Amino acid sequence: MLQLFIPLNFLGFVYREIKRSLTDLENMLGLLNQHSSVIDKPSAAELQIRGGQISFSQVSFAYQANRPILQNCSFELAPGRKLAIVGTSGAGKSTIARLLFRFYDVQQGAICIDGQDIRDISQHSLRSAIAVVPQDTVLFNISIRENIHYGRPDATEQEVDMAIEAAQLRPFIQSLPDGDQTLVGERGLKVSGGEKQRIAIARVLLKNAPILVFDEATSALDSGVETAVLQALKQLARNHSTLVIAHRLSTITDADQILVLDQGRVVEQGTHQQLLQQQGHYARLWRMQQAEQSHS
Ligand code: ATP
Repeated sequence: MLQLFIPLNFLGFVYREIKRSLTDLENMLGLLNQHSSVIDKPSAAELQIRGGQISFSQVSFAYQANRPILQNCSFELAPGRKLAIVGTSGAGKSTIARLLFRFYDVQQGAICIDGQDIRDISQHSLRSAIAVVPQDTVLFNISIRENIHYGRPDATEQEVDMAIEAAQLRPFIQSLPDGDQTLVGERGLKVSGGEKQRIAIARVLLKNAPILVFDEATSALDSGVETAVLQALKQLARNHSTLVIAHRLSTITDADQILVLDQGRVVEQGTHQQLLQQQGHYARLWRMQQAEQSHS
C-alpha cells in the first residue's frame, strides 16, 4: 500500500507543482483560455545555462497574419544584468515575455539563451530556467510559510527563512496573529498587492532560476510598500539576468539597459540618463509620468 501511495502522492505533487507554475505564468502573460501550439522538436536538447544571456535577433512576430506586433526587434541581456522594457500600452512588452517563454514561435529572427535557439531546446528545460514575479500572484489556502515553500518544495526551513528575510516579509509576518502559520488565500487572510508581490519574490528567491521576469503591477503601490518591494527585488536580481516589464519609469531608473518599444519597434535603447539626454520617446514618457505623480 505504501509503495502505491508514494508514487501517487508524488504524482499529485508534480501535478500541483506544474499547475502552480503554469497558473503564475498564465496569469502573468494573460494566457488563460489560450493554449500553445508550440511543440518540442524530436531532437530537442535540454537548455544548458552558462550565465543566462538572452538575445533577440531581428525578431518579427504577429498573432494574426495581417497585423504585425513586433518588427525587427533586437536586443541583448548580458548575464546577471537588468533589462527593462517600457512603452505605451499595446506596444508589445508582454509579447516579448511570451516569446521568451516560447508560448509562440517567432516568424522571423531568433531568440537565444546562452547561444541556444529556444526552438531547439525542450520547453520544460526552458521554463525551468525562468522564474516569474507576476502582476497578481496566486495564493493558496495554506499558511503563508507553505505558500513561500512552494517556490521549491525541497528547500530547507533555513532557506525558507532566508527567503522571508530577503523579501522583506519578516515585519509583516510578525504582525500576523499566527505568524508564518497564518492561513492566507481566498479562505484565509487577505493580503495587499504589495505583500503578495513580496511573497512572489520570496518564492522566486527560493526557486533560484537563473533568469527572472518581473511583470510590474500596473497600479502604483503605496510608497512605503513600494520601497520594500523594490528592495526585495534588488536582492533577488543580484545574481539573475532580469527582464522587467515596466509600467512606471521611476522603478527602473537603475536598469543596465532600457528598451523603448513603440508599435512593436525598438525606438530607443540605453540607460536612464542616456535616454533622458536623447530628448525622445523616453524623455517624453518620463515627463508625463513625473507630471502625473505631482498631480496625484
Ligand atoms: P500593456 O502595457 O497594456 O500590458 P503591452 O505593451 O504589454 O501592453 P502586448 O500585451 O504585448 O502589449 O500586446 C501587443 C499587441 O498585441 C496589442 O495590440 C494586443 O491587442 C495584441 N495582442 C496581445 N495578445 C494577443 C492575442 N493573443 N491575439 C491577438 N492579438 C493580441
